[in-house]
Amino acid sequence: MRIEEDVKLDFKDVLIRPKRSTLRSRKDVDIGREYKFKWSGRTFNGVPIIAANMDGVGTFEMARGFIKDGSGLSVALHKHYPLEKLTAFYDEHGPDSVWYSIGMVKDDEDKLEAFLKSKTHKNGKGPDKICLDVANGYSQHFVDFVARMREKLPGVTIMAGNVVTGEMVEELILAGVDIVKVGIGPGSVCTTRTMTGVGYPQLSAIIECADAAHGLGGLICADGGCTVPGDIAKAFGGGADFVMLGGMLAGHTQSEQEIVEAEGKKFLQFYGMSSDTAMKKHKGGVAEYRASEGKTVRIPYRGDVAGTLQDILGGLRSACTYVGARRLKELSRRTSFIRVTQQINPVFGQGL
Ligand code: 5GP
Repeated sequence: MRIEEDVKLDFKDVLIRPKRSTLRSRKDVDIGREYKFKWSGRTFNGVPIIAANMDGVGTFEMARGFIKDGSGLSVALHKHYPLEKLTAFYDEHGPDSVWYSIGMVKDDEDKLEAFLKSKTHKNGKGPDKICLDVANGYSQHFVDFVARMREKLPGVTIMAGNVVTGEMVEELILAGVDIVKVGIGPGSVCTTRTMTGVGYPQLSAIIECADAAHGLGGLICADGGCTVPGDIAKAFGGGADFVMLGGMLAGHTQSEQEIVEAEGKKFLQFYGMSSDTAMKKHKGGVAEYRASEGKTVRIPYRGDVAGTLQDILGGLRSACTYVGARRLKELSRRTSFIRVTQQINPVFGQGL
């Protein structure tokens, strides 16, 4: 047994130090990024915020909402849509706004294989970027899986995870990953830390993993734990190239979930993808050897996602003006974190 004594940080442990700035308004800030991916050679041009591949978040309607809004965000589609619906969506819209998700199970691989043989893909409208998602990205089996996918899909951008430490980021990048997904346990409906005691404070994970990835020409996506727009700014400030959001984008018209009314208010259900609810819905129950590592919550209905996006993107732009970053690209270079013991003044609660 060993104890690492240096303190690791979460979003709640820091604030961003303001810096002298010549920017006049948040309108002057460009929050788009352009990346060229190490392995696929493709380029990304957009706002590097991704809706998580979860029920209620990674939906077609969310992607359509983003397209309509022209915001430049993208959606990692949850992996439970049938092939016909997927090919129909990619016809209609092409691959720009979405990431095709798969786990390490045969059914997912078979579905992707069938998609690659479809007319849609042959017409150049099939998946150009995929998200390989497992709860624990530390197994050799996963590294082998990633390497096999890279060999099979040389021109496709691969995002894969999740891990939280530099050595594993390096291993995945060397195996063929363009973007490593970072985060174990910080999610809003995740119970991994409670069930297993395993995890890593998210801001430190981002800082350390970004450093490792950038050293090899790879990128990272900070996945999980953002609860307010300021957390997203801190993730980018810490070096994240992409940020993935679950809970912050849940509860909207675009969630494709039933809206229920209780005590005169509207609610939706939101749940982790390895919760009992998800496993019952998609797999017919929780497999015996594994405990559920996600929870189910009821959250207030928040209307169209456009309003939430305005808050998120406005907050991010404003953070950039506070540190004098004209472009999101400059945010990390201009970020100094200050360790704090209090974030906000709680005296009047949330306000009206
Ligand atoms: P959030 O933005 O809600 O804090 O975190 C979203 C992330 O939580 C997802 O992208 C995914 O990595 C993670 N997640 C989603 N469902 C589950 C689950 O059931 N268990 C665990 N451990 N993590 C989950």
